Amino acid sequence: MKTSYDVLIIGTGIAGLSAALALPKSLSVLIVSKDYAWECNTFYAQGGVAVAKDAADIPLHVNDTLEAGAGHCDLEAVKTLCSEGPRAIQHLIDMGFQFDTDDVGNLLYTKEAAHSTNRILHAGGDATGRYIHLFLMQQLPFPILYNTQVTDLLIDHSTCYGVRVSNNDRIFNLYAKKVVIASGGVGSLYEYHTNAKTISADMQGICLSHSIALRDMEMMQFHPTAFVLGNSVRKQLLSESLRGEGAMVVDEEGKRFVFEYDPRGELAPRDVVSRAIFKHKQATGKEVYLDLSAFSPEHFKERFPSIYFNMTNIGYKVPEQRIPISPAFHYAMGGIATDLHGNVLHVNDLYAAGECANTGVHGANRLASNSLLEGLVFAARVAKEIIATFDDRKLPCAFSETEEVLMKENDKVLKNELRHLMWNTVGIIRKTKTLHRSLNRVEAMLTQPIGRLLKLRLLVSREIIISALKRKTSLGAHYMKEEKTL
Ligand SMILES: Cc1cc2nc3c(=O)[nH]c(=O)nc-3n(C[C@H](O)[C@H](O)[C@H](O)COP(=O)(O)OP(=O)(O)OC[C@H]3O[C@@H](n4cnc5c(N)ncnc54)[C@H](O)[C@@H]3O)c2cc1C
Repeated sequence: MKTSYDVLIIGTGIAGLSAALALPKSLSVLIVSKDYAWECNTFYAQGGVAVAKDAADIPLHVNDTLEAGAGHCDLEAVKTLCSEGPRAIQHLIDMGFQFDTDDVGNLLYTKEAAHSTNRILHAGGDATGRYIHLFLMQQLPFPILYNTQVTDLLIDHSTCYGVRVSNNDRIFNLYAKKVVIASGGVGSLYEYHTNAKTISADMQGICLSHSIALRDMEMMQFHPTAFVLGNSVRKQLLSESLRGEGAMVVDEEGKRFVFEYDPRGELAPRDVVSRAIFKHKQATGKEVYLDLSAFSPEHFKERFPSIYFNMTNIGYKVPEQRIPISPAFHYAMGGIATDLHGNVLHVNDLYAAGECANTGVHGANRLASNSLLEGLVFAARVAKEIIATFDDRKLPCAFSETEEVLMKENDKVLKNELRHLMWNTVGIIRKTKTLHRSLNRVEAMLTQPIGRLLKLRLLVSREIIISALKRKTSLGAHYMKEEKTL
């Protein structure tokens, strides 16, 4: 098998596939994927893609994004996202992708929390991510190496030369002139999450092991409405669009209690609704539900076919029956620090795009449906940067193929303890004292005889905790509960 490429892309989500599609076919490009290509968050995205409807809507989209980000966004990054978004969407449509339209072909825009207007495009009703993923895969001219987990970056003197991978228990190096990290977020660090099973913060951990900066790691988003009672590791998300189109959050008595926490009720930003549900459950000890009675059965089935199918399969008669809900970890605003062209700071020939990256675009909280758009816009920028700086004369550099043991016997037990600890103490509501306690425990786990993959998870968890401890006051998704001093 060939082991040297012009460009190597880690990840087959919207960011990895979009970057690949924007590169010339004359380059040799390899995409590596930890599992099947579709086992990624992109595939599971339901609600849609946010995009300014026209030129007048661009500044409004900028404002909504800044407001959701709680004053912590990078203004240039937000302007880039919102102004380049319409072109990225038009490009997708020109390639042949079909968003949902009305009978005469007008695009259908829906509304989601914290958007001041209807500007969310969707496909297949509530299967936007699956439709986009399939479409991008169909266009792809480059090969994918499946079941291939990147376990290290090959870096020498601040230049990246490729990656070390594990494929069917074989460890080997893949060399490339340019490497793009598009490996998604950190979902599996948390006990309850909505993410694909491949999303376990490996690349963020590898970056930390090379002293590559992560930014805003305290900024983790929890989705308010997930069905967490099922057995699967990935919890079933109940899309934001449900609330945008009339679903209500109620307690056992049918009371819409979210209004007691915010006048916008169910349409308040995610962190507000998540905390309201979390606190209400804690205070009353009672179950919280998503009430779907605003939908007729026919409309619900047509507009939300995936949710209809999944919930019916579990045994819920929707929309007639209300669904018990809980918040769950959903999205990482924090990530590998990059500039607006996707360059990873202080490392040559290494790029990051999509959920793994932090351009500052989401600030302290992501506006709903801005992340698929981020994948399209910033991956295209990475491809442009690669083309502009491509140097065919880059000299190869050889690295050994030895690797630390990836997994050890007791790792599973510690991994589950870590996920529990992250959910309970580094989740929706954080306290200084418990954060310190968790930090000590994570440090202790790092001193035990553990495999490399667990070590990477622990490094990222430690970074999230340290970042949370540094930000002493609440901001956006980061919520610190004040503790009474005795
Ligand atoms: C249930 C759900 C619903 C969502 N709904 C929406 C929505 O409606 N609108 C919206 O804008 N956003 C939504 N999001 C968020 C959005 O889907 C993600 O932020 C986005 O798809 C991330 O794309 P990505 O390409 O960066 O990463 P992903 O799509 O997650 O892809 C990551 C890829 O990296 C690979 N990978 C990871 N680690 C390694 C490794 N070590 N080695 C090799 N490969 C690796 C994975 O296998 C995968 O192929 C949703 C997320 C979830 C979980």
